[in-house]
Amino acid sequence: MHAAIRPQPGIMEIAPYEGGKAKLAGRAEVLKLSSNENPLGPAPAALAALRAAAPDLHRYPSPDHAELRAAIAAAHGLDAERVICGCGSDEIISFLCQAYAGPGDEVLYSRYGFLMYPISARAAGATPVAAPEDGRRASVDALLAAANARTRLVFLANPNNPTGTMITSQEVERLAANLPEQALLVLDGAYAEYVEDFDGGLSLIERRENVVMTRTLSKIHGLGGLRVGWGYGPAHVIDVLNRIRGPFNLSGLQQQIALAALSDWSHVERSREANAAARRLLTDGLRGLGVGVDESHGNFVLARFAGPKAAAAIDAALQADGILVRAMGGYGLPEALRITVGLEGDCRRVVDTVGRALGAAR
Ligand SMILES: *Cc1c(COP(=O)(O)O)cnc(C)c1O
Repeated sequence: MHAAIRPQPGIMEIAPYEGGKAKLAGRAEVLKLSSNENPLGPAPAALAALRAAAPDLHRYPSPDHAELRAAIAAAHGLDAERVICGCGSDEIISFLCQAYAGPGDEVLYSRYGFLMYPISARAAGATPVAAPEDGRRASVDALLAAANARTRLVFLANPNNPTGTMITSQEVERLAANLPEQALLVLDGAYAEYVEDFDGGLSLIERRENVVMTRTLSKIHGLGGLRVGWGYGPAHVIDVLNRIRGPFNLSGLQQQIALAALSDWSHVERSREANAAARRLLTDGLRGLGVGVDESHGNFVLARFAGPKAAAAIDAALQADGILVRAMGGYGLPEALRITVGLEGDCRRVVDTVGRALGAAR
């Protein structure tokens, strides 16, 4: 750090986010299961929109995202006026922290919650506070016990990344109903579409003034590289967030491609079904080898091994076979690897490699 030119308090406490590995030295092709990407890729309509939108690159994009917000609202049964679009839902998370939390304030999340929560909290100068979990599942009792007069935001991913677990709508409602009055509950629904007949907490938002939701096109829509996410909440919150959102935070390309993706719901259905079948295969295959795997509700599983050394050895064996998964030391789960659900053949490859590596270790 420079002696005189210093950043705001809290910034230097941020451990830079480490994304999933994408490359292996000396290997042209890898099986990338490290970032929860949809193995089916984006809908064909999204790729067609990319080509169609290219000639307009000299134009500034729509600053209010009206068309995209209308499409999101229509797809999910929402009020378009209370939708806000961001450069990934990460940007919405960052807006929330900037707008509602600062020095002296606390941002609460559950122990194995998504790492962007503490990172964004610190970037805003606030103090992240992790509440203990019940096993690897968010505990409403622990979150409520940790909430106090300084708590401004409470983040809950449901289903959660990296554990894959979720809590019931009744539990979420109990959390919302019992938080201190100045605290806003943020329901991160990055994986909501992977759960059948689940609204991500929407009905709660319509009934309460202290709940917002973040969603993304990065996961089930297969558009992690596009960077489009959105938020939905009460009018008072969306009004606040729009005041700090840059007018051109989404390019025209992003908006047009996202619009096209939202027009093809069959791709979402197909992705959900393929994921459920492959996740079953991966979960059962790993369990059959004696690996600990909680039932996951997302497009990944958290595989737990005998200890940090065993997990590192399995990670190395997977890499030797050209397979990239996510090490979980940064989340405080060094004995675990998070494995994205690929195609069924990909899942078989993972199970085979893990089986061979465990066999060799015995
Ligand atoms: C992947 C993910 C996100 C968001 O990603 P964006 O690509 O920024 O939309 C948000 N929350 C959780 C829990 C995630 O796993």
